[in-house]
Order: sequence, then C-alpha cells, then structure tokens
Amino acid sequence: MNCDDSRIYLPAYLDDELDVAESLRVQKHMTECADCRLDQEEQLALRSALRDPELYAHPSADFSRRIEIAVRRAARAEARSQHSGWFEFFRFDSFRWAPAAAALVCVIAVGTLLLLNSLRSSHQQLIASAVLASHIRSLQPNHLIDVPSSDRHTVKPWFQGRLDFSPPVPDLSELGWNLVGGRLDYVDGKPVAVLVYQRRMHNINVFLWPNHGSADDAIREEDAQGYQILHWNGAETTYWVVSDLNNAELLEFARALRGH
Ligand SMILES: [Zn+2]
Repeated sequence: MNCDDSRIYLPAYLDDELDVAESLRVQKHMTECADCRLDQEEQLALRSALRDPELYAHPSADFSRRIEIAVRRAARAEARSQHSGWFEFFRFDSFRWAPAAAALVCVIAVGTLLLLNSLRSSHQQLIASAVLASHIRSLQPNHLIDVPSSDRHTVKPWFQGRLDFSPPVPDLSELGWNLVGGRLDYVDGKPVAVLVYQRRMHNINVFLWPNHGSADDAIREEDAQGYQILHWNGAETTYWVVSDLNNAELLEFARALRGH
C-alpha cells in the first residue's frame, strides 16, 4: 500500500468498515509512514474535538423570546398585506410559524458557534501536528541541533540576528534537565526557536515564539503516536514541548521550565 491508497482507505479504516486483510494493510503502512500516521492522528483529533460537549450552545430564554417577538412582528406585517381577519392572523402568527422560525434561527446560531470552535481547535491541532512533525524530523541524523552547547550563554546569543525575538534559555541542569543545544525551525509559517534538552536518552524539543495573545499558563496535554505534547501561553512566550519521555516526567520538566 502506498500513501495515496492509505489516504483513500483511512476514513473507512477509522470507521471500522474495512475487512481484516485491508485493515492490516493500512496498519502496516501506518507503522512505516510518519506522514500517514500524522494524517491518522489529525483525523482522530478532529473526531474527538467534534464530540466535545462544549460545542453545544443552548439559547437563553431571553434570546428565544426576542427571536419570537421579531418573527411575530415580521409575520404580522406579512399577514396585514395578505389577510384581513384577526382570527386567521392570530392562528398564522403564533401557533404555526414563530416556533419553526425561532428553531431555525437557533440552528443557525448553534452551527456558527460550532464552526468557530472547531476552527479554533483545528488551528491548535495544526500547530500540534507541525511541532510533532518537526520533532520527528529532528530525530533524524544531524537534524536535532544547529548550535550544540550546554551553555545558555552560547545558545541564547546564537538566535540573535536569526529571529526577531530573543527566546528565554533557562539553565535547568540542577534539576536534572540538560540543555544540549538549539536550532531554528518553522511552525505555522513562522520561524521559531527550538531548545533541546535531554534526560537519559530522551530528547525534549521546546518550541518557542512570542505570545501576542492573552496569557494562560495552564499546561495543556496532547497525546500523539506515543509522543507527549504539552503547551501553554506565558506572558511573553508561547511554549510547545514535545518528547517521547513519559507523561509524568515531561510534566515535571514543563513546570520547571514554566517556573523559570
Ligand atoms: Zn504514507
């Protein structure tokens, strides 16, 4: 199976609609192809995002009432031009059309909210996919580090002139997290700083860029293909941390980094 076949089969595979032989062929391709694994991960993430109960909005009683009044007013103007009898107008207005029109407006409102939410979360998902792909790429020979050094006073100045911001480069060696270097990378079309730390044989990629939005330093977790992805928005800097280190230790690392 090649990537084109895999892309065609993937939705049916995720829906459990393939027979055993076909499923095994897709699975085999997934183990061999990082690109298609990413596709699969993205589709799974989108599916679970769409199941989020927060996507459902319930209109307030006041909102429904205002819609009903507006619809009634419009129907009254319409009825005035078409009907003369008050009895008929009353029947036409309240009992038949207003609830249906109000329901339609609610459906549109809910649909818009749902779309906005899924756009926002799919942008996060896009960044998660990009940093994960970059992490996997960095594990290939000679891709991990542009400036190999455990000294923050070497790594930090290296970014000068290469980026239009100066990334924080904390020394966490006393806590058992060894800086091994940094590199320049691209995420979401922007050049970003990457710091590489290690514990035992595990590489930790820290992607950094300026945070122009609001700060929210709660650490969020994304689990992807055996890798851990953590991210938060500091007051000045957005952080994405990717590693194959276990979740508990990586959280410990993220808290140490956030505290610096
Ligand atoms: Zn493939």
